[in-house]
Amino acid sequence: MENSPIRDLRVPGRGVFQLFFRKFEIIFFVRVLVVEDEHRIANSIKKGLEQETFAVDVAYDGEYGYDLAATEDYDVIILDLMLPKLSGLEICRRLRQEGVNTPILILTAKGQIQEKVEGLNAGADDYLVKPFSFTELLARIRALTRRPKEILQTVLEYKDLSLDTVSFEVKRAGKKIDLSRKEFALLEYLLRNQGKVVSKDQIINHVWDFDADILPNTVEAFIGSLRKKIDRPFKGKPPLIHTVRGFGYRLGK
Ligand code: CA
Repeated sequence: MENSPIRDLRVPGRGVFQLFFRKFEIIFFVRVLVVEDEHRIANSIKKGLEQETFAVDVAYDGEYGYDLAATEDYDVIILDLMLPKLSGLEICRRLRQEGVNTPILILTAKGQIQEKVEGLNAGADDYLVKPFSFTELLARIRALTRRPKEILQTVLEYKDLSLDTVSFEVKRAGKKIDLSRKEFALLEYLLRNQGKVVSKDQIINHVWDFDADILPNTVEAFIGSLRKKIDRPFKGKPPLIHTVRGFGYRLGK
């Protein structure tokens, strides 16, 4: 990696997680768009983030990046400034004008103060100058995608159901429940949006990555298998997953 623009793709301490994920496979729950015309950088970021269980789409020019950012549902956008067809600053301005509030991290070789200020004025949330360290990029993405309530929370809960995002343990009424990786990712997404209706499309976007060809009835099948594990065995308790006809699903009230 001597000549790589990313200095330390190896994250300290990740060996343990690699073993862990080899056993449980990768669970996607944060969806990232990378808009970057240097294929080598874009692909290194994609690879690194995917190893961290993120779902990553890449656009190699500004126009395609803007189209994806405006139409798909991302948790964070990593945006280069100097791009063919449409500049990063222009993408940023247009998205904000259109009310797209996805956190944007500008990633660029330009390190001058004036350009940082311009980027932040255009609506970006953070700024990282190349060459950058992958560890720092990851830390910043985590900071941008973390919702205030989740800062101290690695365990997501609703009533007697809990899901531990670190130990991957799921329990209801004190009883351990074994889930597949997709069931786990689906339940995590529902818990993070508890009380809200989420559509099948939103589920597909957050739980599967862009290249996966997932049909709405696959979501139905996974909801069904999740119900079999978290609702059906707990007779006498109210079901946690609700179908909202014509809209999607909701966990909790
Ligand atoms: Ca560029």
